[in-house]
Amino acid sequence: MSINVVDLSIELCARASVTPEDKGCQEVVSHLLKEQGFKCQTLQYNEVTNLWATHGQGAPFLLFLGHTDVVPAGELSFWDSPPFEPQIRNNHLYARGIADMKGCVAASTLSAIDYVKNNPNHPGTIAMLLTSDEEGPAMDGVQRVVNDFIKPQKIAVDYCVVTEPTCAEKLGDTLKIGRRGSLGATLSIRGIQGHVAYPHLAENPVFKSLNFLQALRDEHWDNGNEDFDASTLQISNLNSGVGAENVIPPDISIQFNVRYGTASTVQNIQSRVLDLLKQNGIAEKDFSLSWKNSALPYLSQRESVLVKNCIQAIENVCQKQPKVSTSGGTSDGRFIATLTHPDTQKPVEVIEFGPLNKTIHQNNECLNIDDLASLQKVYTEILGLIYK
Ligand SMILES: [Zn+2]
Repeated sequence: MSINVVDLSIELCARASVTPEDKGCQEVVSHLLKEQGFKCQTLQYNEVTNLWATHGQGAPFLLFLGHTDVVPAGELSFWDSPPFEPQIRNNHLYARGIADMKGCVAASTLSAIDYVKNNPNHPGTIAMLLTSDEEGPAMDGVQRVVNDFIKPQKIAVDYCVVTEPTCAEKLGDTLKIGRRGSLGATLSIRGIQGHVAYPHLAENPVFKSLNFLQALRDEHWDNGNEDFDASTLQISNLNSGVGAENVIPPDISIQFNVRYGTASTVQNIQSRVLDLLKQNGIAEKDFSLSWKNSALPYLSQRESVLVKNCIQAIENVCQKQPKVSTSGGTSDGRFIATLTHPDTQKPVEVIEFGPLNKTIHQNNECLNIDDLASLQKVYTEILGLIYK
């Protein structure tokens, strides 16, 4: 029995799979894939469920990458219909996770099934990887599958289509060919605690850090390049004080994050932060600094096979040429982008394409149901062009 993309989306969205829960979504998908001859394997790591499915063998090897977890619904009274009771109004399907990204999971699943049905002897491998830990810490999801499953078995992935929502105003307007890196820092600057009435006996760490913080704000990291916007830094947390109004605090803690492209390197950013500390009078003994690079930037070349074919597929279905972009936050594509082909050492080509991202993570998250059908067509078209 065949199911259409709207019905499958509804079935998935009715499951309240708030990260790291999957709530049986992957079982629904694997059931459909198995009926069409896909080999399916569940990879359970702690509380995270991952589905690995393949059809065919050898090259070319294209992987659809997605997730079945969603962010919490938030305040229920802000929703016009319950977030986990999908409802169609004005040609839109409303539900938590429909755009990010259960509608995309439904579309890619059905496109793979359709393609295999019509081309039972296709060359190469069509694969699908779903995780229930994209919105959460992302430790036991795609990162773990890459390190504990794909790499040890030397699985040779050529192309990866991440089915995240990428479009802004109209389906087909944006194709992501890479993402910026994300470098986080936790910094603690020490002063000397004391009574506010006896400042000569103390050293206020807030005042001590002001020049440095200003320098951090004003620093020009790079000019960006053809592929990436200029790198940017934001302070996300700033804490000081013991709670009493008559105490000069002992220290200040500052968290900041740099989103960077290929015009800067991690080493480069780190050494400049150290220079800024020094130039602004913060001695080495007075601070501690730790770094966490949670994503390296990655980029698929505009002339690469996957990018060219995806642009063609989008043009064929949506009648418009997509803008290629590397903007936005990180995605699970960063983990797949660390893979190289075991024989040729060629890096995997990774792109992201999906529907409008206007309402993701918001209340009343929704997707146009015609877009859902077109999205399925784009994914099918990509398969047709890659496996022709
Ligand atoms: Zn997502």
